[in-house]
Order: sequence, then structure tokens, then C-alpha cells
Amino acid sequence: MTARDRCTSCNATLAEPGSTWFPCPVCGYEINRCHRCREQSIEYVCPKCGFRGP
Ligand SMILES: [Zn+2]
Ligand SMILES: [Zn+2]
Repeated sequence: MTARDRCTSCNATLAEPGSTWFPCPVCGYEINRCHRCREQSIEYVCPKCGFRGP
């Protein structure tokens, strides 16, 4: 299990279906989101550049 397998917002593991990932719009860093954070629109902070997004 690496850092890439964890939700960027809540640090939950992404073993459950419905999780997603996308590149940071600023720096392209891989942002992971679990299904729960996606449904609740929890904001994320890019660990690389500090960008905040919905
Ligand atoms: Zn999450
Ligand atoms: Zn970034």
C-alpha cells in the first residue's frame, strides 16, 4: 500500500469502488479521492503545490 492508494482529503484507503483520481489542475500531481469525499464534495489540497479545490 503506497501513498497513492490513499484519499488525498481524508487519508482513507481507496480499496472501495467509486474512488477516483485526477491530476492537479496546477501541477499535475495525482489527486486521489475516495467515494465518500467525492459525494460530499470535501475540498482537497494538493500535497505538492498547495492548490485547494472542490
Ligand atoms: Zn476521502
Ligand atoms: Zn498541485
